[in-house]
Amino acid sequence: MVTVKPVEIPGMECETPHFLDAQRQLDEIALEMGLDPELHERLRYPKRALIVTVPVRMDNGTVRTFTGYRVQHDVSLGPGKGGIRFHPEVNLGEVSALAMLMTWKCALMGLPYGGAKGGIRCEPWNLSIGEQERLTRRYTSEIINIIGPDKDIPAPDMYTNEQTMAWIMDTYSINVGHTVPSVVTGKPVSIGGSLGRQEATGRGVAFCVHRACLEFGITDKSPSVVVQGFGNVGGVAARQLFDSGYKVVAVSDVHGGIYNPDGIDIPRLQAYISEMGRVEGFSNCKNVSNAELLTLPCDVLVPAALGNQIHERNMTDIKAKIIVEGANGPVGPEADHYLHEKGILIVPDILANAGGVTVSYFEWVQGLMHLFWSEDEVNKRLEEIMGRACDQVFAMVKKTGLRPRMAALRLAVSRLAEAKRLRGLYP
Ligand code: GLU
Repeated sequence: MVTVKPVEIPGMECETPHFLDAQRQLDEIALEMGLDPELHERLRYPKRALIVTVPVRMDNGTVRTFTGYRVQHDVSLGPGKGGIRFHPEVNLGEVSALAMLMTWKCALMGLPYGGAKGGIRCEPWNLSIGEQERLTRRYTSEIINIIGPDKDIPAPDMYTNEQTMAWIMDTYSINVGHTVPSVVTGKPVSIGGSLGRQEATGRGVAFCVHRACLEFGITDKSPSVVVQGFGNVGGVAARQLFDSGYKVVAVSDVHGGIYNPDGIDIPRLQAYISEMGRVEGFSNCKNVSNAELLTLPCDVLVPAALGNQIHERNMTDIKAKIIVEGANGPVGPEADHYLHEKGILIVPDILANAGGVTVSYFEWVQGLMHLFWSEDEVNKRLEEIMGRACDQVFAMVKKTGLRPRMAALRLAVSRLAEAKRLRGLYP
């Protein structure tokens, strides 16, 4: 007898655990707000996903082939917007999940953008500058048909920076035959970048720490803060918080962390880092691991490094009263529920780290207008937009009893639903 094996229908290629987590978050809020099921289904998947093979001539003369991605989750509200990351864990699922997060982030902040993300699976720390440049330029030419100032505008993310953006801008411009600064944001100021863009994410994080302390009713004049990650986000946030009187008791970088319950002198630490290249060994501080750092007693914990740092295995050890997500997705879904139940206030990534994309928007606008603003103007407008978004999220929390992540998501998804309803379905 012939037995016919049932055909297994594979899931979508992007359906990795990371992507399914992002999808479940949408499902949760869709159910809660009674979202139209057909619309919900459309938002569960990326609109467009491109996988490219990127061959690169290495310094030793051999050719290595990398894999790159650019995913546009939704573009109903405007061109795609989102960073490009270089990391060995980059895959279609991760990039798709992060693109979805960008859709919510831009909608929540009221920016005229859709959500996108890109990345190259590589170990950037093992690549020379020349190899990084050739990788970036070839990747740009492979995705050139789907990016552009009206289509999709990349920006820096993990292990990419101003220089990476300058190479993308140059490669794109050479290919179209004229200079197009607004194809990327996060560029160096000398070629059309915005003043205040580099510090914007950290500034926004510090702003949210301040708002969350007020919301939580922390009355201490100098609340204690622990910051994981001392890069473009964590380093800037720590400095901002120190300057406004917070007691930064612990910080870390990839190598490890330092702790002083009486507070760390951040400007002196920054000087130390520029000499030593790491935070470990700084005077009057105890060395702690990145894992220990997360469980230190403090008022506010700012995870500003990698995703999924607070999860099922360490969530019961968290002692902070408030968590402000500087990174994208640092608190896993189980931990998010558990910590909320415990009374910990979590300011979600799509609000807390949205300062970066907000000033990216300013950079794009300034580039299109060929008219540039002062740093004060940029910071003032950033505070206005962050303040408005915080007000709306905390008002939604009060109105619905939702946890802040879901309140923020609800605001974002309803804006998108409205846009999609008005635009209708083609054809
Ligand atoms: N990569 C940043 C983020 O995750 C910035 C994106 C942008 O500026 O477009 O929000």
